Formats: sequence, C-alpha cells, structure tokens
Amino acid sequence: MEASHDVLVIGAGLAGMRAAIQAFDEGADVALVSKIHPTRSHSGAAEGGINAPLGNASEDNPELHAYDTVKGADYLGDQDAIEILCSEAAQDVYELEHWGAVFSRTEDGRIAQRPFGAAGAPRTAYAADITGHVLIQVLYEQVVKREIPVYDEFFAWKLVEDGGRCVGVVAWDLVRGGLRAIGAKTTILATGGAGRLYAGTTNAYACTGDGMTMALRLGLELEDMEMMQFHPTTLSPTGVLITEGCRGEGAYLLNRDGERFLARYAPNAMELASRDVISRAEQTEIDQGRGIDGDVMLDLRHLGAERILEALHGTRELSMVFAGVDPIYDPIPVRPGAHYHMGGVDTDVWGRTALEGLYAAGEVACVSVHGANRLGGNALMETITFGRRAGADAAEVAHGAPVARVPESALREAEAELAELLGRSEGERPWKIREELAEAMQVNFGVFRREEQMLELGRIVEGLRERYARVVVEDKGEVFNSDLTQALELGFLLDLADCMVVSGLARKESRGAHARPYDYPDRDDENFLKHTIVRWADGGPQLDWKPVTITKWQPAERTY
Ligand SMILES: Cc1cc2nc3c(=O)[nH]c(=O)nc-3n(C[C@H](O)[C@H](O)[C@H](O)COP(=O)(O)OP(=O)(O)OC[C@H]3O[C@@H](n4cnc5c(N)ncnc54)[C@H](O)[C@@H]3O)c2cc1C
Repeated sequence: MEASHDVLVIGAGLAGMRAAIQAFDEGADVALVSKIHPTRSHSGAAEGGINAPLGNASEDNPELHAYDTVKGADYLGDQDAIEILCSEAAQDVYELEHWGAVFSRTEDGRIAQRPFGAAGAPRTAYAADITGHVLIQVLYEQVVKREIPVYDEFFAWKLVEDGGRCVGVVAWDLVRGGLRAIGAKTTILATGGAGRLYAGTTNAYACTGDGMTMALRLGLELEDMEMMQFHPTTLSPTGVLITEGCRGEGAYLLNRDGERFLARYAPNAMELASRDVISRAEQTEIDQGRGIDGDVMLDLRHLGAERILEALHGTRELSMVFAGVDPIYDPIPVRPGAHYHMGGVDTDVWGRTALEGLYAAGEVACVSVHGANRLGGNALMETITFGRRAGADAAEVAHGAPVARVPESALREAEAELAELLGRSEGERPWKIREELAEAMQVNFGVFRREEQMLELGRIVEGLRERYARVVVEDKGEVFNSDLTQALELGFLLDLADCMVVSGLARKESRGAHARPYDYPDRDDENFLKHTIVRWADGGPQLDWKPVTITKWQPAERTY
C-alpha cells in the first residue's frame, strides 16, 4: 500500500528540516522528501550568517531590525510578516545554539555579530564563513535524533489535489526508479530557489524552482516573480559566492582606477549599502568602462592575514581554488550574479497557501519578508522562523484531518505522461535548451531591465517551449536517471521564466531588484506599491496584483 503521513515536507534544506522538526515535536507523523541528501541541500552553501537582533555587538532591537528590512525591501515587504520575523528571530537563534550550532563568539563569550549591508546594527550571527554548513548539520542531527523518515533521493514531480485539498505528491524514486505516490494530510513545500534560471548564479544545480512550478501547475499563485536578487560579489568567472561578510569585515570595492566608487552611489553606507544599490553601482561602473574585463575588485588586503584566516577562511579558499587569487595578497575579481528569489509561492504568515493542506516555507515561498530586495542574513532567518511556523500549523491541521491518499488515477496519469516522454526516441536533448534559457535570462533580465529585452526574452522562451515539447530523454534507465530529472527540471524553469517576464513587464517602475533606468527610473508608489501575482490559466501566465501590508512604516525615500 502507498505510504501516507500526517505531514509531508518536500525539501530538506533549512526550511524543510526546521518544519519537519516542529511538526514532529507537535506530535505529527512527519516525513521529508529530498532529491538530494539533506546535508547537500543548498542551505549548506550559505556563508555569511543569520540575522537576529541579539544586540551583542551594539544596541539593537526587533523594531530596528524590522525597519531595516522594510526599507531594504524598498517598501514592498509585508510588514506584518516582517514584524513576526524580527520579533521571533532571537529566540530561534538561541534554540539553534542550544541544539549545538557553533557560532563565532565575542571576547566575552556571547554570539558574535558582524555588520551586514543596510543593517542599522551589527546583527548577523555567524559561524566564521560557513554558517549554512554548520546549521544544516545541526538540523540534520535533530532530524536523525527524532528518527524522522527521509525519502532520500526522491524527485517530487507533481503535487496532487483531491476534493479541494492537497493530498500529497507523486515522486520519482531516483535510486530504484519508478513513480511513487506519497499521501499526506498536509504538505509543506520547502524546495528552495530557482537561481539556475541564470547562467551566472551563486545557486547549485539543484536550485531549479521545482516547488514554485509544482504549485503553479496546481493553480496556485506566485508572487513578485520579477524580484530576482543580484548579489554584488560573485566570483568571476564561475559565479561562486563571495560572502557579504567580507564587506562586513571591512573589504573595499574598487574600480579599474582603484577608486572606492561607492562614494558616488551610497556615500554613507559605502560597501554596506543594500545589495540592489551595490549591484547597480557595479554594473554602471562596468558598463561605463571603469571595470576590468567585466568585473570590479573586492579588496581584503588591508584586513590583514590574521583576520582573513580567522573570519574568512572559506572565502580565501574559494578565491584561490576558483579564481587563482589569494585575497591576502591580491583583490578578488567580482561581478553581480543571480542569487536569491524574493518571489515565490504566495503564503500567509503560517506558510499556508490558498489550497487547503498545502504550505510553503523558505526560498520557495513569498510570505513576503524581503519585498523587492532581501537583506543579507535575512534568508537563513526566514527559513528557520517560517519553517518552524509552517511545521506547527501543518501539524495542527493534520491532527484534525482524515487520512489522505493520492488517488490511483493521479499516479496512473503521471505514469502515462512519463511513459510518453521516455517513449520518444528522437528529438533534442534538454541541456542545450537549458543553456540557452540561462543565457537569455542573463542577458535580458539582469541587473538592469529594458522593455524591449523583456519582450525579446518572452519570444525566446516561447521558442524554447516549442523545442521543449519535443525534447528527448536518451537514458531510458531506472537508476539515477539524471537525464530524465534534468528534463523535468527544465520544464519547471521554463514556466518560471514566463512568469518572470509577465511580472517584469507589468511593473512599470524601478523598485529594489527590478531596475528599469531607461524607461521607468523611479519608484512609483501611487501605482505600484503592490505585489505582482501570477497564476497559470489558459496555457499561460495571467497577471494580477495584491496589496502590500503596511503596519507602521509608510514608504519614504530610500538612501544609504
Ligand atoms: C551561495 C549562497 C550563500 C548564501 N548565504 C546566505 C547567508 O549567509 N545568509 C542568508 O541569510 N542567506 C544566504 N543565502 C540564501 C539562503 O542560503 C537560502 O535562501 C536558503 O538557505 C534556502 O533554504 P531552503 O531551505 O528554502 O532551500 P534549500 O536549502 O535550497 O533546500 C531545498 C531542498 O529542496 C529539495 N528539493 C528541491 N526540489 C525538489 C524536488 N523536485 N523533489 C524533492 N526535493 C526537492 C532539495 O533536495 C533540498 O533539500 C545564500 C545563498 C547562496 C546561494
């Protein structure tokens, strides 16, 4: 008989594991599904740290954290959700510490906090520059301790709705082959972001937006999909992240003339302005010929070898391995790269979506605490706080719900669709389409966006979709068929690209990550202080809008 659980969490990164732990602690029978081993989830790559107003480095409080987040979001964040994040963050960080997270310490033994961009106080708790790695090990330990079952190396493909509620998922078993139905009274999506839409990205190969598209295909709404954040310091040419922690420690950004060019863009905050501001400054320098081979330079040399080795050891290693540069002696070549999706599945502050029984938390979700621009350190905090909240609510709802099973017909339909795909013997292989999509996104939907480029991108994606309809999976095998899963991931990515084009064209203003300096250079609160919403209907993305929740902070001019 098919498996069935109270709560099924799809995704075992920080959001998914935190949700599963909470659901378990609330008495639910919970299981995790992950296409890669939990500790290999992309959360493990997080470097710089996690934001909570602990006040260990200087005076801080939830109100200041919330204000910084609202302003950083260019006023597009929902302030009720932001207030929850900032008021619950400290307790969540202490809990991680009590579970064994080895945060770096102050001289007097408290959790150390470093300054991060656009933060009014040093607020980012860190474990050197391997914070994500530390946290993912700690949560995995808690999952193992509770003996929470993990459907490890299962590729979730289709969410299933029955009788007006989500009843589980159909997944491909990567190790043994074959489709499996897993029923659940409540299902939590925690599948992470979609950075792999882009050629230049800090995201791992697994970040293909699967959960966003699975929800979209079930008729759910995606919010603020145009809001893809470009991180200012990604290593040239690979796109590997160089943490904001470097600038938190005092690193400079220099142009080809050796000038700290941020003095002209963000004279007060300089290298610690928000990410959107710095990425635009860098791109402007590069476009106007003051870059070096498409890069600017991140200079750590004045921090000294001792501090670099102590606090930025991983960064040094990445620079040496991937760019052949030792930052103790030479500046690191960096450029803006696609990093984080502020948009995602529309949820309320408990992670609930519009479909009963379906939740989303972490980068797959848009709750929305990041609005048009996320502050560094807030994503990890969001995974923990909103993962916990989703787990709690999903467990509570599951207690009162009847046993849920995936209807036989849903499994049969999925099998028939897969058989058709695997049955094709001629056609184009997926990788070429995936590569062209990533290039097209990079060129046409980058740091600066132009109307004609977004329209062109729409036409390119349409052409790629036509080719995708004839895609061939050459590997017909059952075991570790990555040819198959990459084809399915490409389908997810193409749908998301369409959603981004529609949302990007509709937002005729410049706000946060969505910069349109050539036609709509200013923020337009009168017409666009609202979220874009996309749902899939009649074979394509349909646009709608949703108001922003404002509690305390009225929109104001945003300078750094
Ligand atoms: C290089 C890098 C550094 C970062 N550093 C920081 C930082 O210092 N501070 C900060 O706040 N934020 C940082 N971020 C952002 C932050 O790390 C992420 O937003 C966050 O970790 C995402 O966590 P998640 O749990 O939502 O998703 P992930 O950790 O990406 O986990 C996704 C999970 O979903 C599973 N999954 C996906 N699709 C499927 C499918 N179809 N079937 C089954 N399972 C599936 C995966 O196997 C995985 O287990 C960084 C991001 C990057 C890329």
